[in-house]
Amino acid sequence: MSYDNDNIFAKILRGEIPNNTVYEDEHVLAFHDITPQRPVHILVIPKGAYVNMDDFTAKASDEEVIALMRASGKIARDLGLAETGYRVINNNGDDGHQEVQHLHLHILGGAPAGPMLKKVSAG
Ligand code: 5GP
Repeated sequence: MSYDNDNIFAKILRGEIPNNTVYEDEHVLAFHDITPQRPVHILVIPKGAYVNMDDFTAKASDEEVIALMRASGKIARDLGLAETGYRVINNNGDDGHQEVQHLHLHILGGAPAGPMLKKVSAG
């Protein structure tokens, strides 16, 4: 899939749509999810134009990949989630139920996350 410059996170990165930023560096932006699923729900995104994890891990520089992971850990620590625990989710593509086509990690915390996945019938 090619990158769509009009996806909502591309617009956030260009400053066309406001966001509630919790962290920013050269390669990474992180902000509160507009529809939080837990008391703390942060989206961590690369500033580069990557559709999803597949695109990112194939094309991004080591520096960008490291920056995303380092930032995610720091954000969780800074928000006090390291002690109580948290979940990181990355949805990819159709089966992953990815809605926004710009790579993002969800950091969810502040309450128990529950079981990892609901059982679904095959097919
Ligand atoms: P996905 O299903 O693609 O993994 O997650 C997309 C996430 O983006 C959802 O949790 C949704 O609430 C969030 N989201 C969608 N539009 C906006 C927006 O305009 N601003 C913010 N902050 N989050 C958004």
